[in-house]
Amino acid sequence: MPTTTKDALAAALGAENVRDAAESDAVCGVRPQWVATVDSTERASAAMKVAAEHGLRVVPKGSGSKLDWGAAPTAVDLLLDVSASTGIVEHAAGDLVVHALAGTPIAEVGNVVRAAGQQLAIDQPLPTATVGGVVATGASGPCRHLFGGVRDLLIGITVVRADGTVTTAGGKVVKNVAGYDLGKLYTGSFGTLGVITEAVFRLHPVSAEHRWISVTAADPATAGALADEIRHSQAVPTAIELDRPRPDGPITVCAQLEGRPAATHDRAAELAATLGHEAQVLEQAPAWWGSHPFEPAGTGLRVAAEPAKLPHLLAAIQDAAAGLPVTTRGAAGLGVLHAGLPADTDPAAVAGLVTALRARCEYAVVERAPRAVLAEIDPWGPVAPGLLTLMRRTKDQFDPEHRLAPGRFVGGI
Ligand SMILES: Cc1cc2nc3c(=O)[nH]c(=O)nc-3n(C[C@H](O)[C@H](O)[C@H](O)COP(=O)(O)OP(=O)(O)OC[C@H]3O[C@@H](n4cnc5c(N)ncnc54)[C@H](O)[C@@H]3O)c2cc1C
Repeated sequence: MPTTTKDALAAALGAENVRDAAESDAVCGVRPQWVATVDSTERASAAMKVAAEHGLRVVPKGSGSKLDWGAAPTAVDLLLDVSASTGIVEHAAGDLVVHALAGTPIAEVGNVVRAAGQQLAIDQPLPTATVGGVVATGASGPCRHLFGGVRDLLIGITVVRADGTVTTAGGKVVKNVAGYDLGKLYTGSFGTLGVITEAVFRLHPVSAEHRWISVTAADPATAGALADEIRHSQAVPTAIELDRPRPDGPITVCAQLEGRPAATHDRAAELAATLGHEAQVLEQAPAWWGSHPFEPAGTGLRVAAEPAKLPHLLAAIQDAAAGLPVTTRGAAGLGVLHAGLPADTDPAAVAGLVTALRARCEYAVVERAPRAVLAEIDPWGPVAPGLLTLMRRTKDQFDPEHRLAPGRFVGGI
C-alpha cells in the first residue's frame, strides 16, 4: 500500500516515470513537487486518478515551448509530462484525416502526411511544439487565413479530465458534430479544463507551387488598403501577413499564393500588377515569414480587431510604443497582429504599452512575458463580466476543485 504521494504515483506509473522536480521544471517560476511522464491516454488517466485522490494541482507539459505562455499558475504539485506520448495512431489519407498522440511534434505529423502529398495546415513557428500544446494554446501561423485556425482543423479530441475520466469528442470524419463540439472549448484552454492526450485533424493537399507577393507601405492607412485589396482580389491567397520592424517604420505586406505552377505564376503576376507600389513576386517566403516578432525570452503581445480595422491597430501600436523598440508582425488579412519587445525592456514601460493598447483595441493579450513584466500586469486583461461568469461556470463543471493549471487563464481561472 503506497504511503506517500510519490509512492502512489510510482505505483500507478512505474517508479522510473516519477521524479522529484528540479528548479528547471518551474512553470513561470512556480516549482512543482514532482514530475510524472506518461506515454499514453491510459497512463495519463492513471496519473490524474492519483492526482485526484491526493488533491494535486497539475500542469500538463508537452515539449515546453509555450509552457511559460499565459499567466503563472498559482501553485503546481505535479508537472504531467506527455511528451513521451508520441506517434500517429492513424493517417487515413483517403479521408484527409490524421489522428496523433498529444506529445507528437506538429512538425512530425507534417512529415508523415507529406509523404502522401498532404499537409496539416498548422504552420505555427515553434519547431518542437506538440499536438497537445498547440491545441491548448490555440497557436496558429499564416496559413490560418485560408485553412482556418486550430479549432477549425481539429475534428476530434481525447482528454483526461481532472478526476481521471477519459472523454472523447468528435471523431474521425469531418462531418461528425453531434451535441457540443468540445474540441473548440479545449482549444486555447491552457491546460485549465483537462489534459489533452490525442487529437484528430483534417488535412489538405499540398500545392505544387508557391509564390509570395511583397509590397511596402509607408503608413498604416496604405498597408490597410493593400491588405484589403489582396483580400478582395481573385488571387485567393493562402495567407496575408505583414511585418513592421519599427513601430513607426515602413510596413511590408506579403501574400502567399499556391496551386498548380502555371496558374500560380499567372495569379502572382496579376496581383503584383494590380497592387502597384513596386510589388515584387518572390520565389521564397521572406525571412520573417511565419515567425514570432519576439525572442523566446522576450515579451509577445497579441492585438486583434476585424480586418477592416488594420490601420487602427497599426496606428494604436505606433502611438502606444512611445519610443519602445516594438516589432509588429502577423495576419494582416485576419486582423490578428503580434507585437514583440526585447527581454530587457523596462517592465513598467511594457505594462504602460499594454495599458495604452487596451484603451484603444478591443483585444490586447500578453502571450508571454518575462516574470518581471507579469508582476506588473495581468496578461489577459479585463473580460466582460457576463463572459467571465460563463467561463467560471465552465471551469467549475470541468474541474470543480480547480486543480488543473490553477490561475493560468483569464480572470484567475
Ligand atoms: C480576455 C479576452 C477577452 C476577449 N473578449 C472578446 C470580446 O469581447 N469579443 C470578441 O469578439 N472577442 C474577444 N476576445 C477574443 C476572442 O475570444 C478570440 O479572438 C476568439 O476566441 C477567436 O479565437 P481565435 O481562434 O481567433 O484565437 P487565436 O488567435 O487562435 O488565439 C486564441 C487564444 O486566445 C485565448 N482566448 C481565445 N478566446 C478567448 C476568450 N474568449 N477568453 C480568453 N482567452 C481567450 C486562448 O487562450 C487562445 O490561446 C477576447 C479574448 C480574450 C483573451
